[in-house]
Amino acid sequence: MGSDAWLEGVLADVPGEPFDNRLNAWRDSLPEGLREVVNRIATAMGGIWLVGGSVREALLGREQFDFDLATTLNPDKLLEIFPRALPTGVQFGTVTVRIDGCDEMFEVTTLRKESDYGDGRRPDVVDFGTSLKIDLSRRDFTINAIAVDLGRQLIHDPFDGRKDLSEMRLRAVGNASHRLSEDGLRLMRGYRFMDQGERGVWLPDEELSTALREQQPMLDNVANERVWHEFSRILTGNNAADVIERMREDGMLSRILPGWDADTSPQHVLQAPKEDLAICRLVLLAAEINHERWRVLEDDLRVLKTSNNDRSRFMSLHRLLGTLPDPTNLSELRRYRFGTGNAIQAHLSIEDTLRPEVSASVRDALQSLRPLTAGDLPIIDGYAIASATGMPMGRRLGQLKSWLHRMQIELDLAGSEQVLALLDVIDWAGGDPESWPGPSWP
Ligand code: ATP
Ligand code: MG
Repeated sequence: MGSDAWLEGVLADVPGEPFDNRLNAWRDSLPEGLREVVNRIATAMGGIWLVGGSVREALLGREQFDFDLATTLNPDKLLEIFPRALPTGVQFGTVTVRIDGCDEMFEVTTLRKESDYGDGRRPDVVDFGTSLKIDLSRRDFTINAIAVDLGRQLIHDPFDGRKDLSEMRLRAVGNASHRLSEDGLRLMRGYRFMDQGERGVWLPDEELSTALREQQPMLDNVANERVWHEFSRILTGNNAADVIERMREDGMLSRILPGWDADTSPQHVLQAPKEDLAICRLVLLAAEINHERWRVLEDDLRVLKTSNNDRSRFMSLHRLLGTLPDPTNLSELRRYRFGTGNAIQAHLSIEDTLRPEVSASVRDALQSLRPLTAGDLPIIDGYAIASATGMPMGRRLGQLKSWLHRMQIELDLAGSEQVLALLDVIDWAGGDPESWPGPSWP
């Protein structure tokens, strides 16, 4: 045996089939680090199998960068043979292994034989086991319940996951209702796995379809951050619009975000900047909720444990709904461009789906709108205003400065004389400064 050999670990307690040529070639292409992990565990007399997403993606011919492995060794033993491993979820038997000089991460999980799922999310007690057969039967969908013995070049597929992969179908391992009732997160995973990227949307079989509707209340037992984690992945998927549509039809959307279930047709045409995609989709879901109810919207998002960033991005985009400028009005266009700042592309992409004609004219008009001659910042500061008006520093002066800034932007003023000249035309001496307009949009 050469130095590039894969060692054999303990044999599985479930039948395996030999690799075909394609799998042999795939094995040869796997990273060095993975072989190191497999060989170290085999040497320590453990059983070791590649499982989950990396097997699924390999069978589909897609590249995969994180590797999930299942082993008969317990976490303590793993930490002993991989001193640099991180105990990322030791109570559930998971350690994350990194190998020197290797970018990949390996999540190695001890085979489990679980007892009750009392809270509908996590098993109460995780008993570590030695049976691959039981471990695979604990997995969610057949396409995720295939294991590979890299040392022996065997594939273990007791639930016919490969058949479902080739027929592009989602099916639960065992009784769908029962499996979703054990762990409500599987509802979210079910919708997520419907989106198979470039391969389109894979539909659940009838049993799983029914279970996805009937077991919905189980979602209430799932930690909100887990729900958001899955939901945000759904929102950014290639076929997000189709999945969202199905979630809406099933009543799942409203269970996650009550009342956020606007018509989904705009979702199908949305072309948002990648970094804002999830948030733009959320804004569309809440497009029929009046922004006056922003506190409720914000609370709904807070409950999901979204980040402060995501929330404030959402709030500013939701506030902008329906506020496109008049494309023939240069002042409005200038202030729109200034006031929306770095949210402008995301806002336009949302409006493209809701008010496509106006949005297109605004885009055209913005194309030929020159940058502001004097830049975005106010040309004159508070001191200059104070000396021109004799006004003391304070709220009133601050408001006047904002007003002048607005006019500077709207009129595209070039210098301080032009701004100061405005003091002769606007009534800054009287009136309530709180009612003076500023440069923001709308
Ligand atoms: P990806 O990494 O692309 O999200 P994945 O299938 O690898 O896909 P992971 O969340 O990494 O998903 O989980 C790895 C494997 O663990 C899954 O393929 C599945 O077999 C199993 N699994 C994960 N979560 C659950 C769950 N909630 N219930 C049952 N099995 C699960
Ligand atoms: Mg994975």
